[in-house]
Amino acid sequence: MVEKTKRLYFDDPYRVEFEADVIQNLTHDGNPAVVLDKTCFYPEGGGQPADKGTLDRVPVVHVLEKDNQIIHVLEKDVSSDAVKGEIDWSTRFDHMQQHAGQHILSQCFVQLFDAATRSFHLGDETSTLEVDMRNMSEEEAERAERLANDLVFQNKEIKTSFCREEEISNVQLRRPPKKKGDIRIVEVSDFDHTACGGTHPRSTGEIGTIKILRWERIRDNVRLEFICGIRALQDYARKHRDLRTLSNSLTVDDKEVLATFEKFTADLKMQKRKNRKLQEKIIQYEAVEIMQKAEGKLIKRIFTDRSQEEIRLLTLLTIRKGEFVVLFGLKNGERVHVFLACSESLGLDMREIVPVVSPLIEGKGGGRPSLVEISGKKKENLEQALQEAYQHISQKL
Ligand SMILES: [Zn+2]
Repeated sequence: MVEKTKRLYFDDPYRVEFEADVIQNLTHDGNPAVVLDKTCFYPEGGGQPADKGTLDRVPVVHVLEKDNQIIHVLEKDVSSDAVKGEIDWSTRFDHMQQHAGQHILSQCFVQLFDAATRSFHLGDETSTLEVDMRNMSEEEAERAERLANDLVFQNKEIKTSFCREEEISNVQLRRPPKKKGDIRIVEVSDFDHTACGGTHPRSTGEIGTIKILRWERIRDNVRLEFICGIRALQDYARKHRDLRTLSNSLTVDDKEVLATFEKFTADLKMQKRKNRKLQEKIIQYEAVEIMQKAEGKLIKRIFTDRSQEEIRLLTLLTIRKGEFVVLFGLKNGERVHVFLACSESLGLDMREIVPVVSPLIEGKGGGRPSLVEISGKKKENLEQALQEAYQHISQKL
């Protein structure tokens, strides 16, 4: 029978150092790994990631559980029968805060909305909780968050104990246990009982602020993202710094930032509209100038660093204001664009010239009889492509 690993974090989640005997050496995904007789390391499971730390100063890269044994995957071998282990306290405490925060939030959703927790995942930056709700309003999220933080302010004791499987029906568990045998119960005093093998602080005050960040409907549930404790503080600090930068640059109080921003966006929209109208006017003048300089019906030109929209508009205005065939090329960054157009009264089909131009500029395109557009990448052949188009079309005029 395999020897179980004694979980020191069950009795004392605050303990960071320990000494243990190596009871098995193995490899895991190519890395050396050891099983110890006892450990402070929490193995990945129940939505909570593994602890970080060292065994004999060798970094532990992963910790997992198999058949009641805890496997410590190492960066390199530890050639010893007994090891000194140390877990990374900041990671452990962060996980304790997020995990206990989840217990409280889950019970809040039961009490307020009769919504059971479907799943929990403690992530690197935020944690997610899936609750049995079809939708959640802003007001409902605020109520749950408020109640959760009230529990934090009340600084309730968090106790752990073991219960025999046959006696479990006496405990008012939030959800039925997934494991058999002795069940570990985590109790937030007078508030929540749940079967859990994770790490939690002694009292709710240590969780710190519980903040719901956002939520979405997923499958038939609502999945919400939340942060607790140090993560909430860091998030607040970053957001406050960003807001202060914004309020300084807008020279308004931080409470006025949103209204000022909304006004700026509305102004910008209006300016863009005005700009577009002005640009259209300028292009109309440009079209007139092009027509005045035209020698005959055929107009060939190359433009650089203009937008496709501008040249398209110029093309359309030119063919509509007179009786012309327009062959425009545009060099725009790494791409070239060709606009081939004719006044409808000429009855030509510009699509016939696509096979003449496309191979030369390694382009693709199409359109209607009076206007085709081709985009390509061979800039150096643009001149030649327009020239061939010119020759092709001049035979038809
Ligand atoms: Zn837990």
